[in-house]
Amino acid sequence: MAECIFCKIATGEVGKLVYEDEYVAAFDDLNPQAPVHVLIVPKKHIARLSDLSEPADGEIVGRIMIVANRLARERGITDDGYRVVVNCNEAAGQSVWHLHFHLLGGRTMTWPPG
Ligand code: AMP
Repeated sequence: MAECIFCKIATGEVGKLVYEDEYVAAFDDLNPQAPVHVLIVPKKHIARLSDLSEPADGEIVGRIMIVANRLARERGITDDGYRVVVNCNEAAGQSVWHLHFHLLGGRTMTWPPG
């Protein structure tokens, strides 16, 4: 996906990663909505959550959750609490078409989300 900005970030072509392994990359959000706002993405290009279908995709999602926990610990937000969010498609607010999990923390969250 030559034109996908998150593919470019995940491969290290642009930007700065805060975590990377064979399957997963993470970087700070450009427009943070909380003191901690990290985006965690699969290195494989998957456009949206609803495109996940194979068991192998489930393994990647599991890996992403483990990375979210690790980054939350590193950023010191585990005990107070944090939120992991995926926006799937336009009505949910998705604006970048490469699956990404928002890790948000460092402030009190409200519910329901807007
Ligand atoms: P969503 O609206 O769920 O698709 O989230 C997209 C997120 O990507 C937003 O929080 C943006 O601030 C963030 N974003 C867009 N472009 C970049 C970029 N180049 N680097 C880091 N974060 C970005």
